[in-house]
Amino acid sequence: MLWRTRFAPAPTGYLHLGHVVNAIHVWGIARAFGGEVLLRIEDHDRTRCRDDYEDALLDDLDWLGFVPDVGRTDSFRASRHGHPHGHPQRQSDNEARYAAALASLGARDLTYVCTCTRRDIARQAPHAPGEEPRYPGTCREARHAETESLARRVCMDDGMELFDDRRLGPMRQSPADQCGDVLVRDRHGQWTYQFAVVVDDIAHDIDVVIRGEDLLASTGRQLRLAAMLGRERPLHWWHHPLLVHPDGSKLSKANRDTSIRERRAAGVCAAALLGEAAFLSGLLPAARDLSIDELPALFR
Ligand SMILES: [Zn+2]
Repeated sequence: MLWRTRFAPAPTGYLHLGHVVNAIHVWGIARAFGGEVLLRIEDHDRTRCRDDYEDALLDDLDWLGFVPDVGRTDSFRASRHGHPHGHPQRQSDNEARYAAALASLGARDLTYVCTCTRRDIARQAPHAPGEEPRYPGTCREARHAETESLARRVCMDDGMELFDDRRLGPMRQSPADQCGDVLVRDRHGQWTYQFAVVVDDIAHDIDVVIRGEDLLASTGRQLRLAAMLGRERPLHWWHHPLLVHPDGSKLSKANRDTSIRERRAAGVCAAALLGEAAFLSGLLPAARDLSIDELPALFR
C-alpha cells in the first residue's frame, strides 16, 4: 500500500521541538511503510501567518533533513518569486476550493448562516475552562439571510463516528455532542482549520493523517465532514504522543518553548535535536544523536 501523508505546519511562529516530534512520526512512518510525504503550508488564517515564518520553517526543515516527496521546500521559495514549479501547496491559494466545497454543502441544505459572537456562544452554552464549547445550534432554525454574516456552520447530526487509530485502537466520537454544528468560515470570512484541512486532505489524496494526540477529539467531526464532501477513499489516523519525559515528568520551559532557530544559533546539531525529540516523545529510551535515515526503524 502506498500511503500518502502530510506535514502541515502553520507559519504563525518558528518551528519548535513539538513540530520535530510530528515530523519524525510523519517521515518515519511514511518511510517505514513505503509511503510519501506531502508538505502543505497551512496559512488559511491570513491574520496570523507571516512570510518570514514560512521562510524560517522551510529553512529549518532543510537543516533538519526532512525532504518532502510532494512540495519540495525550494518549490515554495521559487513560487514566492513568481517561478511556480513543483506545485507547492499553500492553503492561501485554495480559496476557490474551499468556496466550492462550501457551496456543494449549501446546495444540499447542510449549512447555515450563524450570527453568534464568541460571547453569545459562551452565554448559550456554558462550559468549564479547558472544556470544548458545544455550539447549541441557535441559528440553525433562524434562517438568517446570507448577507447577515459571513460565518457558516455545517450541520452535525446525531450519530457516532467510528475509526481505528493505528496507535490507540478503536475509537468512537459523537460530533453533535462534542462540538455541535461545525464552523467552517468565521464572520471575518476566514476559513477554519477544521474545514480547510478536510477539503485539502481530499484534494491531496491523503491516506493517513499523522498528528499529535492533542487533536484526537477533532477526528470524528473531520471524518463526518469528509463523508459529507463525498470522500470515498478510506482515511487512516495515527495520533502520536506529545512531548513529555518518558517518566511522565513535565518538560522544562527551555525544551518546550525554544525554537529550532534558537537551538541552531546556540550550536546544537540536527542529529542531537532529532534524538532529543525522539526521546521526549517516547521513541528512544535515552537521548542520543539520531540521523534521518534511522527514523523508519523506530516504527517498523
Ligand atoms: Zn449562531
